Amino acid sequence: MSRAFNFCAGPATLPEAVLKQAQDEMLDWRGSGMSVMEMSHRSEAFIEIAETAEQDLRELAGISDDYAVLFMQGGASSQFSAIPLNLLGDRTGADYINTGIWSKKAIAEAARYADVNVAASSSDQGFSTVPDPSTWNTRADAAYLHYTPNETIGGVEYDFIPECGDVPLVADLSSTILSRPLDVSRFGLIYAGAQKNIGPSGLVVIIVRKDLLGKARPETPTMLNYQVIADNGSMYNTPATYSWYLAGLVFKWLKEQGGVAAMGELNERKARKLYDFIDANEFYANPVDPRYRSWMNVPFTLADEALNADFLKGADERGLLNLKGHRSVGGMRASLYNAMPEAGVDALIDYMASFARERG
Ligand code: PMP
Repeated sequence: MSRAFNFCAGPATLPEAVLKQAQDEMLDWRGSGMSVMEMSHRSEAFIEIAETAEQDLRELAGISDDYAVLFMQGGASSQFSAIPLNLLGDRTGADYINTGIWSKKAIAEAARYADVNVAASSSDQGFSTVPDPSTWNTRADAAYLHYTPNETIGGVEYDFIPECGDVPLVADLSSTILSRPLDVSRFGLIYAGAQKNIGPSGLVVIIVRKDLLGKARPETPTMLNYQVIADNGSMYNTPATYSWYLAGLVFKWLKEQGGVAAMGELNERKARKLYDFIDANEFYANPVDPRYRSWMNVPFTLADEALNADFLKGADERGLLNLKGHRSVGGMRASLYNAMPEAGVDALIDYMASFARERG
């Protein structure tokens, strides 16, 4: 059986080796007589799975002991409210950079709790770029500065980490975590929904500097209180055990591949190939400022929109799946997360070339 190349933005393709291992361990995890899904989260076996996953993530991402790593639920979206509730402390203001749909969602939720200052926005450029940091209207007394390093829908990715002095930097890394090296020590808090580069949905990973804990507003729901989650090893209640286990398998796989440095090289090569092809072929276009083109999510349009349905049908027939762009922007989008092999990108480019030749 050959698996399709799945270009979905999330839930996204997972490494085949990881799925096979999960299959092998499905009925009986290492002689325990049961599946990981059936284990008590308090069991020795699961605690070992959970701790190993955290340790491997710390090694992969270079996370020091100054940071807590939390495995929470509710997706990245739950963090849009958890972040202001936990980090505002005795301040009222938070700064946000708006680069597209995911920034906007974070801003809208934070505005329920905080005096939100949108310090910069690329809306005038149709969210096709990152606003020049020299124009950012940030505040020195903000509780934090939030940005979205990779806009999954717009395909816009920062190629720098913003400078914000003593103001803690908060990043929604959902669609770019572990895809290339990153200096975690520059951040106050990083969060990422799991269903792109980490594992199945149902899990959100938070990496938070420990000195930022313990300031949650009294009305913060217990389940969103980072201090409570940290104090309980992310097991205040029943965690998403199977997703956590799968994430652990992905972390091991990533280490075997050479870690984030190797991933960064591979991901850059994959993205460059596809952008170079799009730029060289008049039938296709990508609207993003070349400097800020995402390595993970590549939106593109056909010269004739009336051919979109035929393009997608032909792609499906070749096992190139989920290339339809987000409903809010249309066109196409190819997501090239860590688990998308280079052969998938080659197959996509072959298909795009032949489609343009025949129908363009
Ligand atoms: N932020 C970004 C950048 C995303 O891509 C997504 C999901 N596509 C989210 C947040 C929301 O994630 P979730 O569905 O896990 O809440």
